[in-house]
Amino acid sequence: MEDDNDYLAMLDRGKEQLPETTEQHERFELPPLEIIQEGKITIFKNFIDVTDKLRRDPQHVLQFLLKELGTPGNIEGRRVVFKAKINPQHIDEKIKDYTETYVICSECGRPDTHMEKEDRTFILVCEACGARRPIMVRKAARPEDRNVLHVGNVIEVSINDVGKKGDGVGKYLDYLVIVPGTARGTRANVKITNISAKTAFGQVTAEAVNH
Ligand SMILES: [Zn+2]
Repeated sequence: MEDDNDYLAMLDRGKEQLPETTEQHERFELPPLEIIQEGKITIFKNFIDVTDKLRRDPQHVLQFLLKELGTPGNIEGRRVVFKAKINPQHIDEKIKDYTETYVICSECGRPDTHMEKEDRTFILVCEACGARRPIMVRKAARPEDRNVLHVGNVIEVSINDVGKKGDGVGKYLDYLVIVPGTARGTRANVKITNISAKTAFGQVTAEAVNH
């Protein structure tokens, strides 16, 4: 009978080993983000839990978030405090973007990766399957920004009208752009100096178009 007990004990020990192997095939999941808004700040309470799970430098993740969200913020303890009111869903999307870009192996889908620098590019190296791929940082494309003019933007404008005071007037997106010193029928690079609702004021500039 003692032999049977030994056998059962051995089976139990075998079972104990099982969860580890099955776990390796489970989908990679981050802990749910705990984010709260307090007045004009937003607190990401379990930030370090998330970066621990991602196995990435919290500063690297933070810099990515700040750039993508366009807001200042810093790490305080295990939390991040953003100095702006941010929709938690927006932060969630950015963390997913970060994970796709900097963590998940595109060959096997595993998160067991690290970054290596090769010449000037970063390579994502997979410890599970050995795949190596350059890290392609998605340009922070914000199409909605393209429809909004800001002071300092340089745009190319066709002057197709002249205002009451003799200033050239053109259209850009849904803005009326007023440019002193320009004549009807000309095109100019214009730097925006002031904006009032959908009327923008600008000056002819030698600067290159940036919008
Ligand atoms: Zn892999």
